[in-house]
Amino acid sequence: MIMQLENLNWEEKGRLIQSDPVTCARHFDYQVNQFLRKFLLSSAEPLGRISDWFYRVEYQQRGSPHIHMLIWIEDAPEFQIKSDAEVTAYIDKIISCQKPTDNPELLNLVNRQLHRHSHTCRKNTKIECRFNYPQPPMRETKILYPLDTDMPQTEVKMHKDTWKSIKKHLDDMREGEDITFEQLLLELKMTEENYLLAVRSSLKAATVFLKRNPNELRINNYNAACLSAWRANMDIQFVLDVYACAVYIVNYISKAQKGMSELLREACTEARKGNASIKQQVRDIGSKFVNNVEISAQEAVYIVLQLPMKKASRQIIFINTSLPEERVELLKPIDDIKEMDDNCEEIYTSGLLKRYSKHPAKLEHLTLADWAAWYDYSGKQYVKPANKLDLDGLPLETLIDHSHNDDDDDDGDDDDDDDDGGGGGGGGDDDCDDDSNNTLFLYFA
Ligand SMILES: [Zn+2]
Repeated sequence: MIMQLENLNWEEKGRLIQSDPVTCARHFDYQVNQFLRKFLLSSAEPLGRISDWFYRVEYQQRGSPHIHMLIWIEDAPEFQIKSDAEVTAYIDKIISCQKPTDNPELLNLVNRQLHRHSHTCRKNTKIECRFNYPQPPMRETKILYPLDTDMPQTEVKMHKDTWKSIKKHLDDMREGEDITFEQLLLELKMTEENYLLAVRSSLKAATVFLKRNPNELRINNYNAACLSAWRANMDIQFVLDVYACAVYIVNYISKAQKGMSELLREACTEARKGNASIKQQVRDIGSKFVNNVEISAQEAVYIVLQLPMKKASRQIIFINTSLPEERVELLKPIDDIKEMDDNCEEIYTSGLLKRYSKHPAKLEHLTLADWAAWYDYSGKQYVKPANKLDLDGLPLETLIDHSHNDDDDDDGDDDDDDDDGGGGGGGGDDDCDDDSNNTLFLYFA
């Protein structure tokens, strides 16, 4: 089977993927899960001990899914707190862009790591590739800084011009040449000092440059163990600028939903105008959604099957802190209301805020955040989920009880796993959820 797959050309693989987006999307979700649980978080600790993680699924234009993931590793040296030498030594332990000539199997995988320019390279930039390929070769891994601000303009101009000629030379080398770094400097007719100054003239912030030979100009950063396990293209970076990283995450988390909520708001206003029944209104809004987003078949599968589009080692919950009269409340089930005394006004479900306001005197010192994170209760008795596994090694689906699928199971390895229902989330009604106990707040360290 593997042999057959290797023999398929690009079109044939594409046709296979298109013919069954359901299997492909489900397989990708499964594969990400296995990679995370059985590999990254395993006791083998391929990247070190992971304290937190977050990922978000994205789709190539009309195509297959990929993930953007952040990993917090314990004991990783922090940039600008530890010396640059300590940071680069750490980076060298887990990140590489080198051709592993002594390992044919890994070399074969690294060949999938070649950066080929595509239309996304030029997105919101002028002419250059925004991923900065080809990358300049380096004798060793370095953190380079922008040129000193007090450098005379004529000198800056000179280094920038040198950088242009280096770039041109690298571009002409295509994927690179089997020469040494010294030979490259000879070809460029410059000293290493001037070469580094030229590279620095192109920077706006401190940047990591990996040890790179002149025949590795377009190889994406990889981790050898991860690449061997994942067996598909990856890019891995050490975060120097926490702020830039936070901006990047926030953009990615909210990207897909942004345009959508505007569209749905309009659809709601429109639906309310007419005399249609609630049912018809919901139908109208639903069809607006289905007919107005351009999504890939596999993304549609993610939505329809409610495969998680983001997951994290920490959960977030929404607490409605609007004034009481502005909060959305959820009515109790009609059967419960029927059983109540006629003059009883407690027709709404209890909700986190109400439970907090009634907390025992002993817990007087608790803040609302503490309460939500550690103490809130569901009012239902906790039933430990059965550990029975299905043929596929996953929990038997008939046994998943959504009122108890929070992170309460105390068997250790799985207690951070709760998808949030496809990334849509964040609605205003979570205050009425009765299953939000034992939850942590997400924060960016
Ligand atoms: Zn490019």
